[in-house]
Amino acid sequence: MTVPQQNLWAPWRMEYIGGLNAGAEGCFLCRAAAHPEEDESAYVLWRGPATITLLNRFPYSSGHVLIAPLTHAAELEDLPDDVLLELMQRTRDAKRVLERAVAAQGFNIGMNLGHCAGAGLPGHLHQHIVPRWSGDTNFMAVLADAKVIPQSLAEVRRLFLAAGAELGLH
Ligand SMILES: [Zn+2]
Repeated sequence: MTVPQQNLWAPWRMEYIGGLNAGAEGCFLCRAAAHPEEDESAYVLWRGPATITLLNRFPYSSGHVLIAPLTHAAELEDLPDDVLLELMQRTRDAKRVLERAVAAQGFNIGMNLGHCAGAGLPGHLHQHIVPRWSGDTNFMAVLADAKVIPQSLAEVRRLFLAAGAELGLH
């Protein structure tokens, strides 16, 4: 996924970029998948039979969601059809919830596969869902200056779960 960089200024992502070289044992998605008791602090939103949905700790924008298979798989062709289906169903559902939870007006949705494509965690593929708003260039700069986004993950998680419950999506 390529997010138009000129439109989004996210200085807190430098911390993320500094931690890119985790191996499978250091994989934050595998860790989240294996520790449901830490769902609140790991900002996990949903667990399915084959996928985990969580907030990106280092978001491009407020409500930046990640959806990943539970298995540490790097390639789409490594995943069986039922897992791929659940990945897209969760993508559809998360998009719908974000429209309500953070009043998203548009989305960048996609995957970075491989280092050269900008994958932060190339061993464990994941779908990004980045909410967008009309005129969000200025909106984002204001929020970033105020350091609102890094501190509001718990609030975004609460809003997401509440909106999901209203829509019957869990
Ligand atoms: Zn993993």
